[in-house]
Amino acid sequence: MIKHNPIEITLDLREYKETLTDSKDFLQLWKNLNPSFIGKKLLDGQNLKLRARDKGVIGITIITSPKEHAIITGNTPFAIYSVLEKPTKKHKCHVCDDYAPFICVKDRTKRMCPVHVTILDGNMRPYSRNNIPKCKGSNEPATFWCDGPECQQNVAWSENYRKKHPTNPDYNYCKSCYDLKFPKCSDHRCQDTGVIKCEYVNPITKKSCSSPVCNRHTKRWQVYGPKKRGLELCPTHRNTRSLTDEEIIYQIIAGTEKRNGLIRYENRMNRGRIEETFLFPSLQSFKHIFLNTRKKAYRLSDINQKIEKLALRLGKDRFEQEMKRTIDYSQRKRAANMRRGESEKEKGQAYFEKLKQLLANERSMKMRQIANLIEFSDFKPTRKESTATTEGILFVKLDSSYRGFFIGRGGQTKKKFGDTLNIQIRIEKD
Ligand SMILES: [Zn+2]
Ligand SMILES: [Zn+2]
Ligand SMILES: [Zn+2]
Ligand SMILES: [Zn+2]
Repeated sequence: MIKHNPIEITLDLREYKETLTDSKDFLQLWKNLNPSFIGKKLLDGQNLKLRARDKGVIGITIITSPKEHAIITGNTPFAIYSVLEKPTKKHKCHVCDDYAPFICVKDRTKRMCPVHVTILDGNMRPYSRNNIPKCKGSNEPATFWCDGPECQQNVAWSENYRKKHPTNPDYNYCKSCYDLKFPKCSDHRCQDTGVIKCEYVNPITKKSCSSPVCNRHTKRWQVYGPKKRGLELCPTHRNTRSLTDEEIIYQIIAGTEKRNGLIRYENRMNRGRIEETFLFPSLQSFKHIFLNTRKKAYRLSDINQKIEKLALRLGKDRFEQEMKRTIDYSQRKRAANMRRGESEKEKGQAYFEKLKQLLANERSMKMRQIANLIEFSDFKPTRKESTATTEGILFVKLDSSYRGFFIGRGGQTKKKFGDTLNIQIRIEKD
């Protein structure tokens, strides 16, 4: 038997509705097609369209038709060289048949196209139509995940509940998380966000008040001098005048201890890379607090004693033990404060003696009486960095019945003495 070369063809199944998967399907198809060629003549490059009843159209292209096959018989060999097929979509959308790159996180058998997927704001998790998360508040289909501290992107909400981040529109919150993250100022008339937390320490619970306050409604208690940020107090705790001496000392040291605790904590978190700055107000700062809030002029040694008394009263709990350690640790600093106070006092006393001289030399009888009555209280030298032009402030005490005369009209007389000595003179209130 002569070996014949096959007729080489290409099958075009792009308009054929049935899907062929393996060689058996192809053999079957060919068996059905072959009879329609018998008795025909096929030429190179010829294109044929065969109608396959309701299954569509099959296209055939003859690549080569060897001469020996002038007329096709039932025995003519064929070889299919290639098959053109409709591109199949591996992943179909369960709604529309389009390509579906998303899988529903609630029902992994459902795939979605970009049109039929639901992705809520705040998290890329894809959902199919019937599995859209429900709003926690209204049970309606949700539109966003809350980024807040309570929900942490695990609770979904609908539009009515959406509160946007004040500056970054990519973040959304439910109402309760928003209020936690951006609390209202404790001043009940104020609508601002309370960005500052009250540092008053409750002496029973040993916890900071922490009430949120805005920049306008906080009272900054300058216990660390004019340069450093003082302790912040909310409207409830801002009235430091209502505190006793002991309470003032306690609040200043307890608030300081909370800050020191925060510095120690941050230092641990950063493996000691933050330079530890130990905070403790100077005795001079305490002195000014007493002058301002209670109009009491204590000596530095009095204040030092009050601090040491507090250390003895402190409890066994962890916080007060740390307060005690801070007080013990500040001992050297307090001693240095007192030495500085002594030398300032000496300087001040020298000015005071000169002032008494000036008063004694006055022609007025009353002025000469004042020279005998006036008392030295304190002296605060002008700091190097200050812009004041005088050498410092001399605080004096004087009986109230002589004050007006010493001060003079519009403060003229007192100022004249001050100018002569190149200092400011202040009369301490009782
Ligand atoms: Zn779709
Ligand atoms: Zn929330
Ligand atoms: Zn406010
Ligand atoms: Zn408070």
